Amino acid sequence: MATKLGPLVGAIDQGTSSTRFLVFNAETAELLSHHQVEIKQEFPREGWVEQDPKEILNSVYECVEKTCEKMKQLNINISNIRAIGVTNQRETTVVWDKTTGEPLYNAIVWLDLRTQSTVEHLLKKVPGRNKTFSKFKTGLPLSTYFSAVKLRWLLDNVEEIRKAVEDHRAMFGTIDSWLIWSLTGGKNGGIHCTDVTNASRTMLFNIHSLEWDPELCKFFDIPMEILPTVRSSSEIYGVMKICPSWESGALTGVPISGCLGDQSAALVGQMCFQDGQAKNTYGTGCFLLCNTGQKSVFSEHGLITTIAYKMGKDKPTFYALEGSVAIAGAVVRWLRDNLGIAKTSQEVEKLAADVGTSYGCYFVPAFSGLYAPYWEPSARGIICGLTQFTNKNHIAFAALEAVCFQTREILDAMNKDCGIPLNQLQVDGGMTNNKILMQLQSDILCIPVVKPSMPETTALGAAMAAGAAEGVGVWSLNPGDLTAVTCERFEPQINPEESEYRYARWKKAVMKSMGWET
Ligand code: ADP
Repeated sequence: MATKLGPLVGAIDQGTSSTRFLVFNAETAELLSHHQVEIKQEFPREGWVEQDPKEILNSVYECVEKTCEKMKQLNINISNIRAIGVTNQRETTVVWDKTTGEPLYNAIVWLDLRTQSTVEHLLKKVPGRNKTFSKFKTGLPLSTYFSAVKLRWLLDNVEEIRKAVEDHRAMFGTIDSWLIWSLTGGKNGGIHCTDVTNASRTMLFNIHSLEWDPELCKFFDIPMEILPTVRSSSEIYGVMKICPSWESGALTGVPISGCLGDQSAALVGQMCFQDGQAKNTYGTGCFLLCNTGQKSVFSEHGLITTIAYKMGKDKPTFYALEGSVAIAGAVVRWLRDNLGIAKTSQEVEKLAADVGTSYGCYFVPAFSGLYAPYWEPSARGIICGLTQFTNKNHIAFAALEAVCFQTREILDAMNKDCGIPLNQLQVDGGMTNNKILMQLQSDILCIPVVKPSMPETTALGAAMAAGAAEGVGVWSLNPGDLTAVTCERFEPQINPEESEYRYARWKKAVMKSMGWET
């Protein structure tokens, strides 16, 4: 007999390195079952990063299927899943043909640098070549990072896409749009939409009026008819349709009613609903977001302004200040896949733990230029301070330390912009499983680092948005009910002078990485 449980909510968490499907109990927020599949990244040329949209979609099917199987084994009734939320890697750009349902090119991943010359070309149109010309409208600087320039590249370089636009067959979307459209029926009536948090990462969206901006679409020369409809982060967008590979068909008819970019979802899942509350997520990249309430705050120190969430059509919009670091977990993956110094990410942790020092070695992993606070596409990765004594353990340690130094840089910027320094840092993401990293982070920031014992906060945020949507209403928990969740705390263990010394050396190394690729 199936275990008697109240309503359940599912979350699709489509990240840069993997896809997960997770099922939560809506009454307790307990994670009941999940499945994860790693996603391939293709590097067809230097600086290019692509993923196959079909592989991404199939990974969602696989995760749903496997999670449902696990639930059956646990005697949990799948039909109790009342809603599904989607959270996703942001900015990654897909264009597909709405008549065939087929992608017209690989997804261009947020990390991709191919648009450096597109950015240069566009800057020529801006008086004074001012990168932040649309800061007060979009919250963003002109950079290779955001979707508009990736879409411009696709329109300029892929004949099939140009033709599909001419024939009115093309649809553009970030990964959330691609998934929601496909899961709600695809070419047979799929819903083409996105939410405000994902739209705010395109550089085509006015974060105050909450509409696509005709002036920016003209600037980037993007036909507005290919853009998805923008909805709130919590409302019913459509229902799941039967999928051919989906033997159980168990989720057919379940509403998809939550959608948040991954960093916004983590902010929600970490219960950062008050002005001034912040979290830092360590995944492929690293993203520190601070909730600024219903007002948009503009940075003087290289941070960006983004939409945090809008929990319903008629609910207010909340904003966040964000410090984005392109390479965090990706440097660990690079040590594993490109240098082959370890077979797993956990082994990198062990290598670093065995020495407990970088022995004066500094590693700036500026593989995709540097994002916040520098926004410098010309930077490239460097490892410096090498001696005859340096070995792979020291390099592994330096790679982890780099993630911590990058966080220190954005935390410093955040403290300057907000005026009130954070006295502890809430963290989450795949890399926070690494205990040595967490301790290092606390040492380098000189404040405690706090990690919730349930690490899947991104998925939790998407599940909360889906379960609380109007017409679903199964998420009965208030944020206060979850603030007592157990956490692991890491306290600073080195003296601040040592921390400052190492940080100063890091800054010197960053300066050396700049302007490499001019
Ligand atoms: P994303 O959401 O970007 O897909 P995740 O939150 O799933 O990322 O985290 C995956 C990243 O974390 C990978 O880049 C992986 O290399 C890194 N990672 C996972 N476990 C560890 C570990 N123990 N030590 C260091 N890095 C880790």
